[in-house]
Amino acid sequence: MASLGNSKNTIEVLQKYHFNFQKKFGQNFLINPGVLEEIIDAANITKDDFVLEIGPGIGTMTQYLCEAAREVVAVEIDTNLIPILSDTLSAYNNVEVLNEDILKVDICKLAKERNGGNPIKVVANLPYYITTPIIMGLFESHVPIDSITIMVQKEVADRMQVGPGTKDYGALSLAVQYYAKPEIVVNVPPSCFMPQPKVGSAVIRLTRHEKPPVEVQSEKLLFQVIRASFNQRRKTLANGLANYGAFSLTKEELAACIEELGVPANVRGEALTLSQFAELSNIIFNSSAMHN
Ligand code: SAM
Repeated sequence: MASLGNSKNTIEVLQKYHFNFQKKFGQNFLINPGVLEEIIDAANITKDDFVLEIGPGIGTMTQYLCEAAREVVAVEIDTNLIPILSDTLSAYNNVEVLNEDILKVDICKLAKERNGGNPIKVVANLPYYITTPIIMGLFESHVPIDSITIMVQKEVADRMQVGPGTKDYGALSLAVQYYAKPEIVVNVPPSCFMPQPKVGSAVIRLTRHEKPPVEVQSEKLLFQVIRASFNQRRKTLANGLANYGAFSLTKEELAACIEELGVPANVRGEALTLSQFAELSNIIFNSSAMHN
């Protein structure tokens, strides 16, 4: 039975092992059983599933995952947590803990070896200092993924969900929405963690699209166009693209591409939808091909 999801049992484990929280690893452990159940429910885990957990901490959510899934691999960077995890997960024979940095793990290989290359589920209360590289790494390296259900900073969850014309809209919104359907599951206050973070949190589920909602000639070019547009927020799209330096077209040629898209010459990147970015990247792709 999962037993750690409350402050009393968590404190007991921490004291038994004289554990000191490491700020640099973004350690805020969940101490609320209700929130843990919501995460597990939202992730829709069955006994057929292979689950990757990022940052198991003392194993609080891992216990729930072991009970729901077929197999769990939990990747934890902090060596001091490894003996604790051996203890708190000793009742489960369907879990392996890897003492590694998630950003260095070959997750495609893991999915291939452990799940026959079939889509895996990722569940995590993420270390907030590396939320974006973790998510983008999972998507861009084309790991076979069914869904990613994660606790993130509330503001970051909002950024993933919003559309054009809002202040939170940016490269992360577009990248996430290109790969997945984002849905905020629940907002979580600081009091549900030990120690309490300074910011509010939210659980968000990203359900991977079978096929991206837009078609592009080059994904790499699409993301370059997106990055260029948001690199200098207060600049027009034309200046953003021209100043980025990664395109083989002149400033005038890039302006012609924007005109071909049919938007005003002084438009800002934050006004464009994902389909408009896709169309613009295809126009730039075709124009560049003509010049080569
Ligand atoms: N899952 C636990 C919970 O909910 O109580 C702990 C979550 S805590 C927010 C984040 C965890 O990620 C910590 O255990 C931390 O040590 C671990 N972590 C931080 N950076 C990591 C990295 N690069 N790779 C793997 N784990 C990491």
